Amino acid sequence: MRIRFYNARVLTMRDGEDIFEGEVWTQDDKIIFCGKKSQVDEYYKENPQSKLSFDREIDCKKNLLMPGFKNAHTHSAMTLLRSRADDLPLQDWLNEQIFPVEAKLTAEDIYYLTQLAILEYIEGGITSIFDMYLTPMSIADACRDAGMRCVQVGAVNNFSQSVELVEECYNTLNGRDSYNSYILGFHAEYTCSKELLEKIAELAHKYKAPVFTHISETAKETAECKERYGLTPTQFLDSLHMFDYGGGGYHLVHTDEKDMEILKKRGMYVVTNPGSNTKLASGIAPINEYLKRGIPVALGTDGPASNNCLSMFREMFLATGLAKLRENDASCVDAMEVLKMATVNGAHAMGLNNCDMLSEGKTADIIMIDLNKPNMRPINNICKNIVYSGDPSNVKMTMIGGIIRYEDGNYNIGIGTDELYKKVEEIKARIDKEL
Ligand SMILES: [Zn+2]
Repeated sequence: MRIRFYNARVLTMRDGEDIFEGEVWTQDDKIIFCGKKSQVDEYYKENPQSKLSFDREIDCKKNLLMPGFKNAHTHSAMTLLRSRADDLPLQDWLNEQIFPVEAKLTAEDIYYLTQLAILEYIEGGITSIFDMYLTPMSIADACRDAGMRCVQVGAVNNFSQSVELVEECYNTLNGRDSYNSYILGFHAEYTCSKELLEKIAELAHKYKAPVFTHISETAKETAECKERYGLTPTQFLDSLHMFDYGGGGYHLVHTDEKDMEILKKRGMYVVTNPGSNTKLASGIAPINEYLKRGIPVALGTDGPASNNCLSMFREMFLATGLAKLRENDASCVDAMEVLKMATVNGAHAMGLNNCDMLSEGKTADIIMIDLNKPNMRPINNICKNIVYSGDPSNVKMTMIGGIIRYEDGNYNIGIGTDELYKKVEEIKARIDKEL
């Protein structure tokens, strides 16, 4: 399958490259050409034997092609819990509302609830997710069947999953199909015993692999870890040699100087979740401090129970807006920095090094931003328009692995929206009855 996007503006996200007018061509799951109009003729000169015929040629009408957004932290199947328990203190929210419902979820429920999230991802230009949830195999199936790129992370804690399951997923999901991969991880320090954490650290050493987890989301969690072990969560986990092969933390809101030194030394990623941190009153992450130290920051929505929407546009605005507020400096964390977090840094954090930019040979995970909308006009600065005034309605097309999964309001994930909404309502009704 060969697709030609022409008459486009192109934002490659390659370092230092400005937006240009040109074309992008894909063949199967790869980008085979990405360049300016003048380079098209050059390409044909260099490849005279391949006067390519295309299965589809798309006139982009000067709209923008760019790499898809990477949602670097989510719990997709928590769609069921969206707007079910809000405006509550964090602990009440978790213990009285979230956990009892989650206890009733089956692997099949999670398959459909994940697919509901996928609809929202693709209509918002998200082409990869870094997902942590309860039943990894049914999540992987949901993503494969819908054509969503998914990197899962181990979610083991004292109450669910096991280190054995994490190792099994690591060995089976990596390479199982072209959509799924798996990274070692656990839920959080505060939900795992020291023994359990030591076993995960052993796995990291066995496979020489990075580890990701929730770290220092709240002040309470951080203080309690200090009481237990005399160290912050970052310092305690590092003392177990958890991050000897890198990895990263979700949230990382309440960190000190020593924590940042560890993040830097271990080559770790910070995945910031400003929407969730705002709604759950967890605090404002010091992302300007991380960036100043050269610690890469990626961006995630967190789950739909704590956010509640799965839009990277909102996260981008909040990431820079909250950083400006925190630092009392309207110039910090500029729009381009935020776009990099939402694309390149996210891809690298997730181990998707071939999905980070638009370039020949890279994976064809591409979105088209509709510039023919009032919130994108006038065209003073497209990147700033996307970060400060963009929203999912600006996404015209989402391609994952060379297949268009969303285009002008139409979804292509193998199941119709009516059928999927019906399934989700049935799950909701069943669980309400069981509770
Ligand atoms: Zn989370």
